[in-house]
Amino acid sequence: MGFCTVINCIDGRTQLPVIHHLQQRFGVEHVDLVTEAGPNLILCEQENETTVQSILSRVRISIEHHASVAVAVAGHHGCAGNPSTPEEQLLHIQKATEFLTRELAGMEVVGLWVDEEWQVHEVPSRGSAPGW
Ligand SMILES: [Zn+2]
Repeated sequence: MGFCTVINCIDGRTQLPVIHHLQQRFGVEHVDLVTEAGPNLILCEQENETTVQSILSRVRISIEHHASVAVAVAGHHGCAGNPSTPEEQLLHIQKATEFLTRELAGMEVVGLWVDEEWQVHEVPSRGSAPGW
């Protein structure tokens, strides 16, 4: 049993790798999904207030009704919704993680990067080097 939550891209190539990673990472059976096209960019820029609030309200349902233990935000190689370089996308993930940490006080928030081979990597916070 147990739930965690991920804000992932709509891209179907990313779902199973991210779900499997999070099941192991947090020892949960279920991963609640909130999807947008390029959510790392949306949450980094916070320009579309309606979409940002929609994401947050769906995440809060997962936290409040499923007692989700952690929240992840993902970005991936070859994203149609965020056609930035991987380096730029990593920064978007870091800033999105920081934003979510502020908004979801008390929740553990992690950033994920899905590479060109659909391997999932945890993105370190800004200022520390990635471990891959
Ligand atoms: Zn995408």
